[in-house]
Amino acid sequence: MSGSALVDCIGNTPLIRVNSLSDETGCEILGKAEFMNPGGSVKDRAALGIVLSARESGALKPGGVIVEGTAGNTGIGLAMVGSALGHRTVIVMPDNQSAEKIDTLKAFGAEVRLIPAVPYKNPDHFVHTSGRLAEELNASEPNGAFWANQFENLDNRAFHEKTTGPEIWEQTDGKVDGFICAVGTGGTLGGVGRALKELNPDITIGLSDPGGSGLHNYFANGEVKIEGSSISEGIGNSRVTANLEGSPVDISWQIPDDEAVPLVYDLIRHEGLVLGGSSGINLIGATRLARELGPGHTIVTILCDSALRYKARLFNREYLASKGLSLPDWWAG
Ligand code: PMP
Repeated sequence: MSGSALVDCIGNTPLIRVNSLSDETGCEILGKAEFMNPGGSVKDRAALGIVLSARESGALKPGGVIVEGTAGNTGIGLAMVGSALGHRTVIVMPDNQSAEKIDTLKAFGAEVRLIPAVPYKNPDHFVHTSGRLAEELNASEPNGAFWANQFENLDNRAFHEKTTGPEIWEQTDGKVDGFICAVGTGGTLGGVGRALKELNPDITIGLSDPGGSGLHNYFANGEVKIEGSSISEGIGNSRVTANLEGSPVDISWQIPDDEAVPLVYDLIRHEGLVLGGSSGINLIGATRLARELGPGHTIVTILCDSALRYKARLFNREYLASKGLSLPDWWAG
């Protein structure tokens, strides 16, 4: 018996019916189980798309080093794909991210460089720092280095357009009426949105934006304007990235944590789904889109990663209280 290469196990994730939300809305609310990718998140796809394309173009040479600035999940995907294909990975990350993600990056073999979290316009922001580091390593490493640059590198979006979107179409027999998710780089929303609109322009594409992000205002009012805050990680943005630019977004909502976080606990208790905060934001968005379209529609969203990646925060009463949130009464911890 011969097996598949690890990278061939990325994608082709199942669609899971979220029973409580489907029954509540009279719609089919389906979550694409991206947490089942081998690196544990939706970002395995972006990592694979970016690395394959860079190897093909020669931007990433055999044995070359992959460098990226990332809040976590992309780094995990890059480290995994990199190791599988013969590349070392160096990750530059802001120091305000969850300890679990840092540990997981190291467990996947990445070299992690933590730097202070500063606004994007500061030249020491982790994205700019990683670009400079890639240039330095490209000069000093025997096989050079490649900057993944997930926010601006369109191979991110292209891989979702080629895989995630068509998978959703096939898994719903073309009956999908709406797709909605949050945006970090915009690769998922931009890629899936494009693919589905191409297959059927009547499919509604939505953005579920967390507090602390400026993108809801951008799509609703044409101006990036940040409001509120969120404990979710990996989503929200204060700028329109190349991957998000031109995304076919029809409708958007800003989703508050006091709706999304309680849903995360309900999903654990009633559905057996153990998901991170961005999946909670996505599923509240899916519920709003279901209400907007009315009963009888099929809405798809992304189940991005596991709650275990955030357990020091999501299951920490003191941390939650400091954000005006709480664990449910049934929680035993
Ligand atoms: N959820 C989580 C947990 C993530 O880490 C990310 C990516 N940073 C996203 C959602 C958003 O994905 P994208 O970058 O494709 O917009």
